[in-house]
Amino acid sequence: MLNIINKWALNAQKLNSFELTKLDTDGLDILDKLNYFQKASFTSISNEERDLLKWAGIYIQRPRSDGYFMMRVKIPFGVMISTQARVLASISKDYGRDILDITTRQSIQFHWLRIEDIPSIQSKLASVNLSSVEACGDCPRNIIGNPLAGIDPHEILDTRKIQNEVYNFFQGNRDFSNLPRKFKVSISANIFDTGHAAINDLAFTPASKLIDNEIVQGFHVYVGGGLSAKPHLAKKLDIFLKPDEVLKVTIGVASLFRDFGYRQSRQHARLKFLVADWGAMKFKQELEKLVGPLLSGGDDLICGWNAGYFNGIHQQKQPGLHYFGLSVPLGRLSADNLKDLADITDKYGDGTIRITNSQNIILAGISDNRVMSFLHEPLLHVLTPFPETFKAHTISCTGKDFCNLAIVETKKYARQISQYLDNTLKLDTPIRIHITGCPNSCGQVQLADIGLRGAKSKKTSQTIEGFELQIGGVLGPEPQIGTSLKGFIPADIAHVVIEQLIRFYKDHRIDHESFNT
Ligand code: SF4
Repeated sequence: MLNIINKWALNAQKLNSFELTKLDTDGLDILDKLNYFQKASFTSISNEERDLLKWAGIYIQRPRSDGYFMMRVKIPFGVMISTQARVLASISKDYGRDILDITTRQSIQFHWLRIEDIPSIQSKLASVNLSSVEACGDCPRNIIGNPLAGIDPHEILDTRKIQNEVYNFFQGNRDFSNLPRKFKVSISANIFDTGHAAINDLAFTPASKLIDNEIVQGFHVYVGGGLSAKPHLAKKLDIFLKPDEVLKVTIGVASLFRDFGYRQSRQHARLKFLVADWGAMKFKQELEKLVGPLLSGGDDLICGWNAGYFNGIHQQKQPGLHYFGLSVPLGRLSADNLKDLADITDKYGDGTIRITNSQNIILAGISDNRVMSFLHEPLLHVLTPFPETFKAHTISCTGKDFCNLAIVETKKYARQISQYLDNTLKLDTPIRIHITGCPNSCGQVQLADIGLRGAKSKKTSQTIEGFELQIGGVLGPEPQIGTSLKGFIPADIAHVVIEQLIRFYKDHRIDHESFNT
């Protein structure tokens, strides 16, 4: 981070050990070593280099000794085209044992990769303008947003130009490749909070303001959100932005994080801790010192939360065209699934495949007269627009299958619980279940109606896997972090306990009271 003068850098003894490494080596420098690692053995990679490989978008998967890697590929705003999807499918087939996981931040994850194959995989990604660079690491991560941008009847403006501008500015930009921790940005103009604003470091949400007797559509700005073990909801700044101001404010907020963010402890380094200490007013003042005066806030236009779900058939903004929300069980696709999606979007739709932060898929651009024939495509029996309720609304992180930090398995239990609930319960309203393998919360357990966070408990002399419960999380206009309940649920009876909880809700709710109320 030689390009950055940071108050912590002047006082090196206060830096955490990884920051000391980052003083000498920018994370992006690791990209130059990938060809060397290709020829050398896995064991030649030092611990320090293993940490820096995150900037290349790769982590060592569990168990570390086996020498396999996971790779995350950024899909900016969750929108890819069919040619990109075919390349992702071929990589999965050739190198990744036929697994593609959709993440809760609209990215794609491969598993089972070998270090010697990483340069070839990155070349294939680059050939279709995709990248894993900075999908992980202390840098701007995949920017999320409305996967329906440009075709959405519920967006107040088309954000695609702004999104591309911001993504292109930050991708691989060495002025921002050495931040105190990850930096998560969301840009959405959808009125149902498809960008999950409150859990991002920086979020732009739809707003309007009367300026010179004219209603102008633009954005409000939220900073300092994040989940993990210490969740914070983002704070609203008293700012209204015109669309062409989004990039400069993103640069300003990223600069404040880089220059004033905390680098003493990794656990205390996210922007949320700086925002909590400064407060919204001081943060706005410091931001204005960098970007100049900003207008005060206007009217919020977020009026609900769709939790990132689009299942079913919907009318697009463009008359005569439809988009289909397809359910991907637990966010896991095979290479053939993705290749088939590419084929049918080319055959019926607009050639795009959109991935959602609920780990599902949207295909768009299907005209009125082709809806019925589209519905008969064999793939729609696997990835259906009309899924069973619980299977459709269960989200799970990677868990113990591949993640070194996991305490418990997640996908296995998620499958078991959702299948059991679909077989035993009928509900007129969906209940969202999130399962996460450790407190880091990649499965966003704090947003769930019912969240299960992996934990262990000692029973007599045996340690058993299980979950702690968190209920009632919600985003949108009145976001709230789920409430933690006391107690431990052994994993093998979790399905029965959740069933009882839902039956209690069903029997005691007043009218159509939601689970969160
Ligand atoms: Fe791994 Fe924990 Fe993230 Fe799950 S929540 S993927 S177990 S770090």
